[in-house]
This record gives sequence, C-alpha cells and structure tokens, in this order.
Amino acid sequence: MSSEVILIVEDEVDILNLLQYTFENEGFVTHGFVNGEEALEQAADIGPDIIVLDLMLPGMDGLKVCHRLKTKTRTRDIPLIMLTAKSEVEDRITGLEHGADDYLSKPFSPRELVLRVKGLLRRKGQIQNEASHWQSEGLSVDFDSFLVKTDKEEVSLTSTEFNILSSLIRSRGRVLNREQLLDQVWGYDFEGYARTVDTHMHRLRHKLGAYGDWIETVRGIGYRFKPKNLPSGSNQSNAET
Ligand code: CA
Repeated sequence: MSSEVILIVEDEVDILNLLQYTFENEGFVTHGFVNGEEALEQAADIGPDIIVLDLMLPGMDGLKVCHRLKTKTRTRDIPLIMLTAKSEVEDRITGLEHGADDYLSKPFSPRELVLRVKGLLRRKGQIQNEASHWQSEGLSVDFDSFLVKTDKEEVSLTSTEFNILSSLIRSRGRVLNREQLLDQVWGYDFEGYARTVDTHMHRLRHKLGAYGDWIETVRGIGYRFKPKNLPSGSNQSNAET
C-alpha cells in the first residue's frame, strides 16, 4: 500500500508532535495543524485519506470544522475521527451528529488511535474494492463513486452513513445486529455502540426521505434493509443490477 495521508488538527503541540511521530513511524504522510481555520483552508488541496480532529480548539471549534468539512464536496467523503475530552459523552454524540465517522476520548494511547484510523481506512478500501451499482425503484447507490440518489436527486451522506447503507444493502433481507454493523462499518466493536449506530441510522433514514422506510428496525435485534412498494418478487430479478 502506498503511503496514506493523514491530516491532524490538535492545538496541544506536544500531542500533535507525538501523533505525527507515531503515524510517520507507521508509514503515513502527516500534515499537522494547530487551528481549525488553517486546516479547513488546506484540507481540500492536501486531499488526505483521513482526518483526526480535536474537538476543543481555540477559535473555530472542532464541531464547526467538522461540519464545514462534511458539507464541502471535496472533503465530505474523507473519514474523520474526532478527539473528545474524557467524560463529555454529549460531545461525542454531538460530534457524530455533525458527521464525524468515529470518535476517541482523551486520554487515549497513540496505538489506539492508529487502530481506529486503520479500521476506518480498511473499511473504505473494502467498499471501493466491491465495485458495483445497486438500484431499486428510485433509490440508486453507486459503490464506486459513493453516489446515492433518491428519485434522481443526489443525497449527501457522510462516509459513515454511506457505509451503513452499503452494509444494509449488501445484506438486504437479512437482519444485521448492531455489533455486525459496527464491525462492518467501523471495523471494531466499542462500548456505547448502540446509541452510536442509532444516531447514524436516524440521520441516514431522514436523508433518504421516503426510502428511509426501507430500513426496518427489528426490535431488540438490529436493522434490516427491505425495498417496499414493489410487486412481490419483481425487485429481485429486474430492478437490481
Ligand atoms: Ca484541544
């Protein structure tokens, strides 16, 4: 694998240096920033494979930076891990609601962050390798270009939302429990998972509009993707490609 590029935003210089050192030892090319504005200005030009973003930053805070990155075409598909302060549970949830793909609370070991980063990158790579296109009724998903359309309108999904949708579609008709989703989307299991999955699922359903109903909640177990409003049996043979 060629060198992956990581962009790290962390105002505490000691931590930033440690993280850059750690990732460089792992073969990454690193770009470090101590403030969010500068990182935002350069992120699209650098085109990193992944972004690590501290929540507590002077000036523009991490949530705002995350939101901006996730709403710009050139940066929205870049996986992003947010670093949050210990015990600020609401911060983590808020970060995920702003489009962060994962979070890690401080203090953490650099090794732990490396594992998270590799997990996200691996998941992204797997999806790119399973190149194909899926369509049923007015919902179409291009796994190559990460393009999702509902009734020919492009839907803007975060990479995590896209990964969840992809996992559900690839397992359509079957129930996926939250652990399976976590494993497929994040590449690992972690505590507090249920609410994380549910938060992303809620946003994904909302963005899919009427097609959000195709994601069924299977009470006490997980989720199932099931296209509806089709003559029985026709969607499997005709509509899917
Ligand atoms: Ca900070």
